[in-house]
Amino acid sequence: MSFSHLGLSPALLSSIAHLNYVEPTPVQSAAIPAILENKDIIAQAQTGSGKTLAFCAPLLQTLRPSARPRQIQALILVPTRELATQVAATLEDLAKHIAQEVKLAVLFGGVSVNPQMMHLRGGADIVIATPGRLLDLINQNALSLSQVATLVLDEADRLLELGFADELQRILDLLPKSRQNLLFSATFAPNVETLAFELCVSPARIRVDDAIDVKPDILQRAISVDASRRTQLLRHLIKSEGWKRVLVFVATKYSADLISTKLRRLDIAAEPFHGELSQGKREQVLADFKAARVKVVVATDLAGRGIDIADLKVVVNYDLPRSVDDYTHRIGRTGRAGASGVALSFVSAESQAHFHTISRKQQLHLTLESIPGFEAQESMQQPPTVLDVHGGIKGHRPSKKDKLRAIAAQQNSLKKEIED
Ligand code: ADP
Ligand code: MG
Repeated sequence: MSFSHLGLSPALLSSIAHLNYVEPTPVQSAAIPAILENKDIIAQAQTGSGKTLAFCAPLLQTLRPSARPRQIQALILVPTRELATQVAATLEDLAKHIAQEVKLAVLFGGVSVNPQMMHLRGGADIVIATPGRLLDLINQNALSLSQVATLVLDEADRLLELGFADELQRILDLLPKSRQNLLFSATFAPNVETLAFELCVSPARIRVDDAIDVKPDILQRAISVDASRRTQLLRHLIKSEGWKRVLVFVATKYSADLISTKLRRLDIAAEPFHGELSQGKREQVLADFKAARVKVVVATDLAGRGIDIADLKVVVNYDLPRSVDDYTHRIGRTGRAGASGVALSFVSAESQAHFHTISRKQQLHLTLESIPGFEAQESMQQPPTVLDVHGGIKGHRPSKKDKLRAIAAQQNSLKKEIED
């Protein structure tokens, strides 16, 4: 199948050809014609499978000629600032060969609001935003959503979770009732899928995540190691495996700072990446990592969603992710666009039960490896009491209320972590 069969305009095809994409990915083939038919869609496709282009190309094609001042015709919501920038870059690439001059506005927190307000004078055609800053700007009358024809939720399941629910609802209330809704993610947990359907009108449900041949080529490994020896093991693996660049996920900002500092002391160029850093620092770290000036980035789940780093070969779960879906998104930072990658999880006595939960739900069937010199000394036989993914204590069945409370707490802390 070639791009020319999807109903895209010659101008867009020319932009795509300049990006050197030979053929559409399965999600692009499925979603682009449906979007051009003005359908609502809920599209689920693997990490790194080109979902961004799948919604950006048809959005550009269906733009009406701009009025003066410009009215916002499309709103793309994303959960993190870096993702907003990345989606805008794709739109810019795709808009290069179309005759109409398209004005984008990229709105996110952590940077001064004034330039964004100035930029919104005279309107914009497409807004790419994180929810918090968008609402701030609306409150300051910097923009109106009353003419939005298309709403895109990228990483839709994250935006539909409790952490973002209030803000999302406030934004939905400001949008025209009659509009096109496009929801994209690699994962839609069942409860979130229900919310997704409630938001859409007779959506086309696109799923290209099942077929084996479209699974990302990620070699998954799990290594048993005492928690206290993980940094040493990481250093050992970086050397012995000759890794050029590694994205390491940890549970907290504190750990991200601590472990990157320890690695630097061991002469490895490492930087933390988390929500407490200034936006300037965040952008610097990501740029340095992309340019291979930094070898290791130690990140919270802030870096877990959407971020596209070309040729990143290795992802390490130093701490295991909270949820099974977070596991999918984290490891999906490698093995993108048909490339191969390795994802490695450290499993200690404390995290063993949680690892088994993730393995079972992901159907991983991994054997726990031991690295010579780093064999776990702590007992792995008797999993100690641990929090399971629902926040309950293993062995004590949590009540429904307990579960909801735990999920809300988790999601709120994550929301604070990842957004503006
Ligand atoms: P997703 O959102 O599904 O995780 P992205 O949209 O970030 O994936 O795309 C992943 C990578 O694939 C990007 O670097 C993008 O430039 C590239 N890409 C997108 N579409 C194609 C295509 N049709 N052929 C080759 N590469 C593509
Ligand atoms: Mg994406």
